[in-house]
Amino acid sequence: MSRRIVVAIDGPGGAGKSTVARGLAGRLGFLYIDTGAMYRAVALWARRQGIGWDNVQALEEMAKAADIALESNPPKVTLNGEDVTAAIREPEISQGASKVSAVGGVRRALVEKQREMARSFSVVMEGRDIGTVVFPGAEVKIFLDAEPDVRARRRVKELGEKTPPPPPEERVLAELEERDRRDRGRTESPLLQAPDAVYLDSSGLTVDQVEEAILRLIRERTSNGKELQR
Ligand code: C5P
Repeated sequence: MSRRIVVAIDGPGGAGKSTVARGLAGRLGFLYIDTGAMYRAVALWARRQGIGWDNVQALEEMAKAADIALESNPPKVTLNGEDVTAAIREPEISQGASKVSAVGGVRRALVEKQREMARSFSVVMEGRDIGTVVFPGAEVKIFLDAEPDVRARRRVKELGEKTPPPPPEERVLAELEERDRRDRGRTESPLLQAPDAVYLDSSGLTVDQVEEAILRLIRERTSNGKELQR
């Protein structure tokens, strides 16, 4: 059987992780796993049940019990059998995800599910702690970053395309920065670059250029094309 490969992509919101990770997974025939969607799904469930962001025990129970399924083509997120693809992208749920993800028990439950998803397949997995905690032995680790104003503009475009009109850029930038501060400052698995991750700034690059740069790395690290099979 050919070797399984893990490509870990971490970085702040709006750096281009989802677009690039999905594109790479498609090009390589790997599974694409958006771990942020899993934290968002738990936040959505908690919100609907009226569970406070500080109710650590209930949040941990929910993270354990949540049945989360991810599909990539087209992107679809299912929570306990319900399609929540659009609902988890609401700004309130973005902030909620960043709050529930600071809870150690929530992280442990979701990390276990993430490792399980990658047990039998090569994966491109994106998040905040993939190279540091989920798969510290990943073959390829990327820390994908971009200037704050570039990240905000990308998010404005994305949100505007989904539900016009686009939101004001200053508000989106402030929300992104608040989330980043919380993600970098927490004690449980903070957002940080793994020492052996390659730093890539996508600010002035096209999606294709970023994908090509990462593909070159994958080829270098995995020695020959044959290993890049599922
Ligand atoms: O990537 P996305 O913006 O969808 O993630 C939503 C939130 O989930 C992040 O702001 C972060 O707080 C949390 N998250 C995390 N660890 C991950 C993925 C996401 O803490 N691996």
